[in-house]
Amino acid sequence: MNPQSKWNKRTIAVHGGVRRSQYGEMAEAIYLTQGFAYPDAETAEARFIKSGADEFIYARYGNPTTAAFEDRIAAIEGTEDAFATASGMAAVSGALTALLKSGDRVVASRALFGSCLYVLEEVLGRYGVTVEFVDGRDLAQWQAALATPAQVVFLESVSNPTLEVIDLPKVCALAHKAGALVVVDNAFATPTFSQAVQHGADIVVYSATKHIDGQGRCLGGVICGTREVIRGRIEPYMKHTGGAMSPFNAWVLLNGLTTLDLRVKAQAATAQTLAEKLEGHPAIASVLFPGLPSHPQHETALATMSGPGTVLAFDLKGGKEAAFVFMNALQVVLISNNLGDARSIATHPATTTHQRLPADQKVLLGITPGLIRLSVGLEDAEDLLNDLIASLNATLSQG
Ligand SMILES: *Cc1c(COP(=O)(O)O)cnc(C)c1O
Repeated sequence: MNPQSKWNKRTIAVHGGVRRSQYGEMAEAIYLTQGFAYPDAETAEARFIKSGADEFIYARYGNPTTAAFEDRIAAIEGTEDAFATASGMAAVSGALTALLKSGDRVVASRALFGSCLYVLEEVLGRYGVTVEFVDGRDLAQWQAALATPAQVVFLESVSNPTLEVIDLPKVCALAHKAGALVVVDNAFATPTFSQAVQHGADIVVYSATKHIDGQGRCLGGVICGTREVIRGRIEPYMKHTGGAMSPFNAWVLLNGLTTLDLRVKAQAATAQTLAEKLEGHPAIASVLFPGLPSHPQHETALATMSGPGTVLAFDLKGGKEAAFVFMNALQVVLISNNLGDARSIATHPATTTHQRLPADQKVLLGITPGLIRLSVGLEDAEDLLNDLIASLNATLSQG
């Protein structure tokens, strides 16, 4: 038996997937190579017929550093296998297009990351796939949509930017009855807090750009699932269409995984403190954070995740004007659109990440003019709180 199968997440995060060369290097080697030389022509022929574990052909298909990242994240996530991709969107679009064909039907929750929405709304339809959107919080809508057979259910377990939490066990049960595979975009839930696979998800995709890197350095993504799905359906599609992760990025992200659990738990603890302290501030209409008892799916979050996540959102009473005054007054928190970074980041979704959406869609998704998304980093909680309160107060003195 593989000893790694007995390890807990923190041990896997440090040692999982390591392939030491004959030199016994401590830090993982970066195999910055596009391809691999074969000892003889027979080996080359055999490898193209069927390559075994740790027999590589071409970095678009696989690479030792990328494979180490794949093994480590799969072991953390609790899936048999994983395929690393160039970005989170390469993972989302790759998983969907690899699994679907003309005539197929997808049921998806409506509250999605802008680019995921683009793939579902603008791309899949061109190839004859029908997509039906539901309000992910409403089980009756899932039930009605999944009364008709479907091939794929797609959802964000915790949605961007309004942090809606989906009742994963119930939705997965409905999806499986309808014959669908459940693809979960788990970026906000994080590998640390997610229990998506235990709750029935068939495929879990991550933007590794977010918490897995956690330091805002590189793009990456990963598709996690059973060996049959990953090697039988995902790998053939990905290796021929080109969305492979670079070995250098795999090395950065492999090291990101080493500290992921520590970082995410520290960030989530600060996020919990900030959410509690901000709730009730006179400039704020509401604070959205799965860890707050006031969150509409607080119970679902407790039942489906082992932590609340590192992102919170709040709606400013003063609308867009207050939102801009708030952001421009920040001194510790940066204005940007990444999340999961060690640096805290404030985003105004209505004018940036979700700007493309028509006004009625924004209303439907709760992306109000006063909504701020706050990705909580690793700074001192008190410094962050002081920065946020001072900037919130600045919006009051303006009014
Ligand atoms: C960022 C993000 C993506 C896309 O990831 P990239 O690495 O930027 O391509 C997909 N889904 C969610 C929920 C995200 O937050």
